[in-house]
Amino acid sequence: MLNIAIAGGGIGGLAAALACARAGLTVQVLERNPDFTELGAGIQLAPNAFRALDLLGVAEQVRASAVPVDSLRLLDAHSAATLAELPLGPGYRKRFGNPYAVVHRGDLHAALLSACRAHGRITLLAGTEVTGYENTGGSVRVLPARGRAFEADVLIGADGIRSKVRAQLVGDGGPRVSGHTIHRAVVPMSDVPPELRWNSVNLWAGAGWHLVHYPIARGEQLNLAVTRDDGARRAVAGIPTDRDTVLSGFPDAHPRARRLLELGGNWRTWVLCDRAPTRKWTERRVSLIGDAAHPMLQYAAQGACMALEDAVVLGRLLDGCPPEDVERRLERFAALRQERTARAQQVSQWMGHALYHPSGAEADARDAMLSSLSADGLMDAVEWLHAHDAGDVPVPVHP
Ligand SMILES: Cc1cc2nc3c(=O)[nH]c(=O)nc-3n(C[C@H](O)[C@H](O)[C@H](O)COP(=O)(O)OP(=O)(O)OC[C@H]3O[C@@H](n4cnc5c(N)ncnc54)[C@H](O)[C@@H]3O)c2cc1C
Repeated sequence: MLNIAIAGGGIGGLAAALACARAGLTVQVLERNPDFTELGAGIQLAPNAFRALDLLGVAEQVRASAVPVDSLRLLDAHSAATLAELPLGPGYRKRFGNPYAVVHRGDLHAALLSACRAHGRITLLAGTEVTGYENTGGSVRVLPARGRAFEADVLIGADGIRSKVRAQLVGDGGPRVSGHTIHRAVVPMSDVPPELRWNSVNLWAGAGWHLVHYPIARGEQLNLAVTRDDGARRAVAGIPTDRDTVLSGFPDAHPRARRLLELGGNWRTWVLCDRAPTRKWTERRVSLIGDAAHPMLQYAAQGACMALEDAVVLGRLLDGCPPEDVERRLERFAALRQERTARAQQVSQWMGHALYHPSGAEADARDAMLSSLSADGLMDAVEWLHAHDAGDVPVPVHP
């Protein structure tokens, strides 16, 4: 039975732990923070994520607090005109086999965490930072910041966009700073006027900025996120920002969009980062998953969905793997996942500048392109992303 060490207890790391344990392997998850927690904000989950959650055995728990939304809507942030709307009702669910829903990140993380806690083959170690590794031949030596190094058969770097495992494995420096600043807030739904309680994912596209809002936590809260392409050069993560600073940044917002912004208190600010796709995900007994492997801007709302898919594919590949075949299986894992995740990274970039932020003639071209698409045409456009079944990938059975 293989021993798997996983650096990072975020969505990707916990999902990988479950996938490996369900395949009969022994797993240790090493999390740098003193607790296993997630950010208090929303996250969109497309049917491909629900398919992965089904295969991890936690879809029911996630569904219990998720809000299935009626549509994905793109509005003009200056005129409030609807530019495109993808219906997510019965036709969409039939086609993609699962709902499109929005959840509180804490609820998704808690579902994965409690399944890991309940699993006898998973050990969760908080307050344990992984600083690097040594590939020793028949095993990998995992190097924690404190305490003794230990041996594992496999090390998975699920330690996010500033991954230490990636720093050693790929050595490509810090992530790329996008120049986009995002402010996020969560508002009790009881504070939201009834006429603004829309059961959809709404994206208001302005000139160089956009606002996203949707309900989370069984509809008890409203998630707000507003982003501006302001050329910020320094990455910041989660710094508190006062309400007036946020409001003064979007003077050209339509009054309805402005009313939504005015609901936010407790704003926090990030400068978004990503990386270009890389072909180097594995080194002998070490591999990367999730944001450590393929961090993307959030514009396709697929970073966590891809991490869940990675976990399922990894678990399938390591299922029944003899120790001498580990390196080959990890290479196969990378080969199976790289094209799809690279496409998601590139599409996320494209969506930011071509759909969410254009102005003038470019905005006119976008509007013309979108108005030519029917609901079926919009579904065709997301088919490659939303219809994917991570359980349906060909995996090698024998060395
Ligand atoms: C504004 C925003 C909105 C988003 N919206 C969506 C969305 O709607 N849908 C979607 O699918 N995705 C979305 N994403 C992307 C999604 O949040 C990420 O892709 C996902 O959280 C990645 O999970 P991960 O486990 O790979 O990395 P992380 O969530 O970064 O987790 C990494 C974990 O590793 C730990 N760690 C770090 N370094 C070490 C170390 N050296 N040793 C041990 N532990 C370590 C960290 O503490 C953390 O717990 C969004 C992202 C942003 C920024």
